Amino acid sequence: MAQVEGDPQDGDCVEARGARGDRIGCGIWSGCSQIAVRLYSRREEVLDSTFLSRQLDQALAYRNALGLLKPHDADAVRLVWSESDGLPGLVADRYQDWMVVQFLTSGMERRSREIVSLLREKTGLSQVVLRNDAPVRLQEKLPLEKKVLFGSYHDPLWIRQNGVLLPARLLEGQKTGLYLDQGANYREVRSLASGRRVLDLFSYQGAFSLFCSAAGASSCTAVDQSATALQSGRAAAEKAGAAINWVEENVFDWLRRAQQEKQQYDLIILDPPSFTKTKAQRAAALRGYHELHLRALRLLASGGLLASFCCSHHFGLGEWKELIGRASWEANVTLRLRKTLGQSLDHPILPTIPETEYLKGCLVERE
Ligand code: SAH
Repeated sequence: MAQVEGDPQDGDCVEARGARGDRIGCGIWSGCSQIAVRLYSRREEVLDSTFLSRQLDQALAYRNALGLLKPHDADAVRLVWSESDGLPGLVADRYQDWMVVQFLTSGMERRSREIVSLLREKTGLSQVVLRNDAPVRLQEKLPLEKKVLFGSYHDPLWIRQNGVLLPARLLEGQKTGLYLDQGANYREVRSLASGRRVLDLFSYQGAFSLFCSAAGASSCTAVDQSATALQSGRAAAEKAGAAINWVEENVFDWLRRAQQEKQQYDLIILDPPSFTKTKAQRAAALRGYHELHLRALRLLASGGLLASFCCSHHFGLGEWKELIGRASWEANVTLRLRKTLGQSLDHPILPTIPETEYLKGCLVERE
């Protein structure tokens, strides 16, 4: 930020101009954040209830047009996703007849009461959980909190997705309860699972394993270091009558042991968390991702499939492919790229904001 005119307060609407004074658009000011201005409109308009109402209508209309709001076999969906829906810092998800909301910028926080009431009115979802515990709030100097705003909530909420019941822990779970961004990939991976020995690395509650098991996998092993996540996974597997081998361990340690034991799998899912929050940590993150792929490829049987995901916006799809290529070269295996994978459609990608495209993946097949 070269120059600031006036004395804007966090959450205020400001006009953004380029180096030559040309208008860029209107944004929300946040003086203490790395992103001082978050654009909400190219036009000259204030962030008032008319604006909020219109953006919410557009977000819902987009999802409705794609059939994402019909409670057929996926009763959880992201309704509003921040910049992608022209509402920087606002996230709203539907889980059955519940709504989970997050306010990640001071601009949205300041208007939170109005937003919640508009959302309740427009969606008909009266029960609301507030998940304001995302660490990015600290960068905006906002406190962390989570609570039930409306309704009486009991953990977990069982969400049916593609015929499988998943435990959504709206207050305590990661993200807002489930990884909604992986929805399309659950369907893709499930379609490949029949008769295969499945390895689900960084499984969380084992969603991939639960889908693969339902689709006829010959075995499923899910590895994650979180005891509570595995506990939820076990409850889901019990409900589904699925036999899943749950392993509570650091994936790196487990992979070393599995290699010594010469274990082999026909379908491996690699869904690590982001190893970097900043550009500065990229090199270290790359080393970690490389080791993971190298070790995972050694466990992949001939003709086996690897679905490898990256949820960090610091790496593009091209770099991810390159990384997989390098690991396969070093492991001395030949891979074919079957398909590239991405985030579900309820997390829209704006070409003008590269950060909105954060989840990418490759489905590769070993010769
Ligand atoms: N595949 C999951 C989402 C994975 S999120 C799904 O579709 O629901 C990443 C997971 O990695 C988290 O559950 C976290 O507990 C786990 N994790 C992070 N670092 C880990 C490590 N070094 N070893 C094992 N698990 C780890």
